[in-house]
Amino acid sequence: MISDDGVLQIELDNLENGEIIKHTLLLIKGHIRQKRQANKCREQQIYLQVKRGDATWELQLQSNISRTGQFKLLCDFGQLEVETANTRIPLQLKFSYCNIVRQCEILYETSAYCKTDYRLQSLYITCCNQQSTPAQVLENCEKINLNLRLVQCVYAEQLRSAGYGRSTYTLNSDCKIFETRLTCEEVWEQSEESLWQNFAKKILNSTTWGGEDKLKFVAFIGCTKYDGAAVAATGDFSYTNIRKHLKGHAALGGGGLALFGAAYLYAWPQRFNEINACFGSNKLVDLTQLPDDSNYRRTYGGVYATTLGAVVHEIGHTFDLGHTKDGVMGNGFDYINRVFTIDNLTENLPERVIQLPAPILSTQTVARPRFTQLKRTTNTFLEKYHEQKTNDSFYFTRNCAIILAHNKWFGYTHGGDAVQHTDSALIKYDSINGCVLSEAHGNPLCLIEVRSVDNSLVKYWYEPQSNQECDEIYKFHLPKEALQALEEHHYLFVLTRSGAAKRLCEH
Ligand SMILES: [Zn+2]
Repeated sequence: MISDDGVLQIELDNLENGEIIKHTLLLIKGHIRQKRQANKCREQQIYLQVKRGDATWELQLQSNISRTGQFKLLCDFGQLEVETANTRIPLQLKFSYCNIVRQCEILYETSAYCKTDYRLQSLYITCCNQQSTPAQVLENCEKINLNLRLVQCVYAEQLRSAGYGRSTYTLNSDCKIFETRLTCEEVWEQSEESLWQNFAKKILNSTTWGGEDKLKFVAFIGCTKYDGAAVAATGDFSYTNIRKHLKGHAALGGGGLALFGAAYLYAWPQRFNEINACFGSNKLVDLTQLPDDSNYRRTYGGVYATTLGAVVHEIGHTFDLGHTKDGVMGNGFDYINRVFTIDNLTENLPERVIQLPAPILSTQTVARPRFTQLKRTTNTFLEKYHEQKTNDSFYFTRNCAIILAHNKWFGYTHGGDAVQHTDSALIKYDSINGCVLSEAHGNPLCLIEVRSVDNSLVKYWYEPQSNQECDEIYKFHLPKEALQALEEHHYLFVLTRSGAAKRLCEH
């Protein structure tokens, strides 16, 4: 609705009338447009009222308006999950700013309505001699529940802006305790990779979760321990030294498990109304007491952003994503705060070292280089400024969005006869002719990535259908650059339109 004189307008950037929302947290982004300076409205806030169609439930929210007229409103529909089971609920949204009002209607779909069995389950791992009180465990589980809902919203938001609708994962249930017979001391001794291997095996062999092949797990190790006194004694507060004194910690995803340490949950919100304050917190981290992982921002807000961004990143690996130079799967995961905040200043954080994602669960551990330094190109402050201005710096590159959009855990189904087409055995590489083939009828190639063996960094990627006049491509000849890369420690990741994926040429 436009004001009487057409001067003032409320625009929604990421929501349309009638849109279906399947995630409990919804971020609404929009702008106030003022066409004339004269009689400018000086109000600093926009108000939103969300009402259930039958008027049995209501929500009141407000957001500041940024210098450029931007606003962001985060809505929590979690209560609708509790009250109702299998249903779609019409919600009426009423935005008010100065003398103007804009209305919009959306449909909220409860997770019971969504019939998928492909879901994400969060676990909180406790050791047999763990000292934490039930209240501490409960607090951490509540933080995990809230923040996995937030990450779910981020995925929906990112895929919508990539043109794939609000696809995101479905949560199976609240965080469950996973008791291991290991002692804390045994956990503290293990490297990140062996923790991942060990817990992946334990979860798969457990009576509760063993048979659940349609669940992926996001697990937090409860006993992660930081020796701040030892760090203080050395006087070396670098991330490397902090990490060295952090035991039982991981931030590693792959296969069916993304594994994290619980040491950084201190900076995470437990309740919905604490989210903005946590992102905005400038409180400095006392490195003698608490570990810091904030890409050197050293604030609670920085720790929250980096470690929540790491959850988005590692969950991405469990959905087959490789690394990219920029965006969530590369240097961009520190910036998740910018998705939710307005009036962001340009942050020029150091480029990261891209780490090897967790391997597919195997009994042998193959010796591989652990870290690979990415080459720093021309990433100037100005470049960062433009990048952050246009897309918050937190985004999935197109190749990543394609992989997610074709994933079963993101609700992707390929017609009624999906089963017969999901066989990845029919994806082949013809080394003589240098081409990738899909031999299943009706299942053309969708994406081909050339990834580094060392750190899964995507060097080249191709989307066959968009480059050709023909819509369905079953045979793709690799360009020279790709063939050359395959000679030099790279492999292929191939995705078909039915969502079948396969890694080829993994020497
Ligand atoms: Zn990674």
